[in-house]
Amino acid sequence: MSTATATKSTKTASTKTSKSTSKKSNKIKSGKYWVTWANKNAKNSTSIDKLEADFKKKVKAFKKALEDAGATVTVSTTRRHKDRAYLFHWCWKISQGKLGGTKISKIPARAGINIEWDHGDAKKSKAGAEEMRSGFSLTKYPISKYAPSLTSNHIKGKAIDMTITWTGKIKVANKSGKKIELTYMKNVKNNKKLHAVGKSYGVKKLLNDAPHWSYNGK
Ligand SMILES: [Zn+2]
Repeated sequence: MSTATATKSTKTASTKTSKSTSKKSNKIKSGKYWVTWANKNAKNSTSIDKLEADFKKKVKAFKKALEDAGATVTVSTTRRHKDRAYLFHWCWKISQGKLGGTKISKIPARAGINIEWDHGDAKKSKAGAEEMRSGFSLTKYPISKYAPSLTSNHIKGKAIDMTITWTGKIKVANKSGKKIELTYMKNVKNNKKLHAVGKSYGVKKLLNDAPHWSYNGK
């Protein structure tokens, strides 16, 4: 500051100083803010119509067969926004201490997402990421062994999360029209006959993820 400005009020001088120090980074630190941001700007879709065209047809046919037989199909997610996947992936890894070899300061940035993962303090960075993990309701380690994927089939519109329920036994037509008797099982993972019916339509079960079905079973 020049001596000429020193004659001005000290109030102006101090305002200037605080402005120049806060200019260092205009990024917003990880935390609850980003859950709200994602729920507004990077929403998950629950609409089957948002799926990729070919997979959409297959899902619709499978769902219709199930409903015709008396089952209830509840869809929770179809297409996942790629920005949401980025936030899911890294907040899970940081909060669960599963960054592997990646340093928090080296997490790749993503255009359009002005997030600062590194709070300059390991505990605070972890707490910020945990606010997001919890806000997004992501399952903790070790119930979930891996971070939400950056390349999930949901991003391509080739996966659907849905819960299929019915009471007792129903007869569901497979793709070739043959009626298959299915018994309800609480753990969908064990219901091999249901998986086979889905597969006949091109909707394949991922065993370790209860509501997840996709074009290739991943
Ligand atoms: Zn899924």
